[in-house]
Amino acid sequence: MKITFIGTSAGEGYPGVWCECPNCAKARKLGGRNIRGNSCALLDDDYLIDMNAHFASMAPRIGISPAKIRGLLVTHPHMDHFAPEFLEKRAMAPALRRLSWEEKCEKISPCFTELPMLHVYGNAHTRKALFAQNGVMEQFQNTMVTFHLIEDGVAQTQDDLTFIPVRSRHTSIPGFCHNYIIQRGGKTLLYASDTGGYDADMLDIVLSQKYDCIIMEGTFGLGATVDFHMSLKKNREMLRLFQEHGVWKHGQNFHLTHICPHWTPPHDEYAAMLKDEGIEVAYDGKIIEF
Ligand SMILES: [Zn+2]
Ligand SMILES: [Zn+2]
Ligand SMILES: [Zn+2]
Repeated sequence: MKITFIGTSAGEGYPGVWCECPNCAKARKLGGRNIRGNSCALLDDDYLIDMNAHFASMAPRIGISPAKIRGLLVTHPHMDHFAPEFLEKRAMAPALRRLSWEEKCEKISPCFTELPMLHVYGNAHTRKALFAQNGVMEQFQNTMVTFHLIEDGVAQTQDDLTFIPVRSRHTSIPGFCHNYIIQRGGKTLLYASDTGGYDADMLDIVLSQKYDCIIMEGTFGLGATVDFHMSLKKNREMLRLFQEHGVWKHGQNFHLTHICPHWTPPHDEYAAMLKDEGIEVAYDGKIIEF
């Protein structure tokens, strides 16, 4: 399995769009890996986990061709994870299909490429956001988008990929967000963002797998512990729990993403601080294979 981190920040970005606090100012000065866009990740070349505005601008900069993507697993419809307006840009009128590229250029269309069906998976909140977006589902023959409703703990398979949605504790609305256990080619990934933890029924499911890689949100870093996101203290507690249950081995592919500039130092500092703990801090454009 190959994972490309396309974005690794929490909602406000890193630096925060409107913020000049010490961390945000330092990130602007240092540049490079210290600058983060909103979190999303590509699995191999064909499955995307979350799709936000940062995805559209970042993909060509890191050599990703979105036209190959066949599946989109959406965690939840917060704007830093799901921007359905970009699905409207897949549209190509069927009448254009017979035309040459030169003839297509005479017409107006957001896309000139015949796309494979994009299978979007998400919960009821994601479905609501998707269907509220003009120009996507009501003309799905043009956008080639289809939606599949996920259920807590119920495995689904598409192509050679199997995934189990896990309801996470994020916001006060139950079932607003789901994390994913993803299996492909004999490897297992836990993508745990956004989450502040799991209810007992979901934790049982999380602890029932053995992971080759865990990607977890590290939103509030050195800051206060809150219910609906992780801090470093909570990340460490989860790691201890995973080790106690034998589902993860120390030092094996544990990556933090969804980093907030407030209470979490810029990448260079934070990565150096955690490297001896078996915790890696992801950055935009980082590729891992396992
Ligand atoms: Zn988020
Ligand atoms: Zn700031
Ligand atoms: Zn969120």
